[in-house]
Amino acid sequence: MKRNHLIVSTAVFLLLCSSLSGCNDRSEANVSEQRTAVSTKIQGKTMGTFYAVNVVGGYKGGESALTELAENCFKKICDEISTFDKNAELAKFNDFKSTEPYEISSDLSKIIQDTVYQGRRIDEATDITVGPLVNLWGFGINKRNDSAPTEEQIAEAKKLVGFDKFEIRFEGEKSYLIKKDPDVRLDLSTVGEGLGADAVAEELIKQGYKDFMVNVAGASRSYGVNAEGRKWKLGIEDPTSPTPKLFVPICALDKAVTTAGSYRNFFKDEKSGTVYSHAIDPKTGYPVSHKTLSVTVISDSAFEADALDTGLLVLGADKTLEWGEKNNYPLATIEYKDGKPVLRHTKQFEPYLKCGSENKEK
Ligand code: FAD
Repeated sequence: MKRNHLIVSTAVFLLLCSSLSGCNDRSEANVSEQRTAVSTKIQGKTMGTFYAVNVVGGYKGGESALTELAENCFKKICDEISTFDKNAELAKFNDFKSTEPYEISSDLSKIIQDTVYQGRRIDEATDITVGPLVNLWGFGINKRNDSAPTEEQIAEAKKLVGFDKFEIRFEGEKSYLIKKDPDVRLDLSTVGEGLGADAVAEELIKQGYKDFMVNVAGASRSYGVNAEGRKWKLGIEDPTSPTPKLFVPICALDKAVTTAGSYRNFFKDEKSGTVYSHAIDPKTGYPVSHKTLSVTVISDSAFEADALDTGLLVLGADKTLEWGEKNNYPLATIEYKDGKPVLRHTKQFEPYLKCGSENKEK
């Protein structure tokens, strides 16, 4: 079994888009007249993936202070929701083999409640009880197997999956999680990047910064303009390309943008040749195998977009677009059709595709 360890996602493209002519449409501007503002740019690793922050006009204290800000934000999130660090709050709850109430912090309680709320909006396709399936399929902390799990193993793990498998109880100010079975395990990995992008963005806004971009792998928050005074552009990746390649440029227009894809984090069962994605359908217990390769969601918060995108990927392009139109959401999907990637989107997504000059200047 081979697993793709290259967990890069739109992040790589967001970086490329700030320097490549194809992304920035420099051809439409008089390059010699452009003034490029000073920026503080940092990048690093968090949550098993990459992050990048770009503050136009410069960050007080420079790169080291900006790195400290970002990494403090990420550390708080990792300490709360990581299932890869046994000392994180969620990992400790997962290891608590009991159906007795387990007290959790108000911050973790809020993340869980909000993620459950988003999951319910999309037919419980984002389901944080997928933990046992995530581990079984080799996308969690468990040692990876040599082949896909058996039907029996999947059926066994599925008994622990479902919104009814845990409860949040409140007593005064305190929150408690209660497992219906001691082996229930929650997995909040799907919202980690969105939470990270929001946390850094909100801190920058609080400090008065107006022009910046934050991205944590497939989740981004951008505000204002880039160093050339133009609205930020991002790229949705071509999910069929083995290396990061722009498929379609989009303007973020001060919103959060996240993309869930089935094409970067996967493993191939060498015996059968089957490729398994890390997006798992909680209803079947299997990784998604349909032709929808990615779903991009635009929202006010990266958390919300991130909580929706994996579930929508599970539902597939048709249901995603139907849900988006009904709920007035800017959404785009890429499917594999007739040997090539095909983009479809809701009508609410259209303004984000219009990165022409009329939309570009602030
Ligand atoms: P998304 O599509 O946003 O999420 C996919 C992930 O969500 C899956 O990997 C699975 O965990 C879960 N999931 C799958 N299906 C569903 C579903 N239907 N509903 C809900 N959830 C689902 N990885 C490492 O290798 N090493 C680390 O040290 C590490 N630390 C981490 C710390 C934190 C705090 C977090 C949040 C993640 C960490 N990861 C780590 C995980 C890794 O980076 C994940 O691959 C990443 O979080 C998944 O995000 P994504 O955007 O790639 O995919």
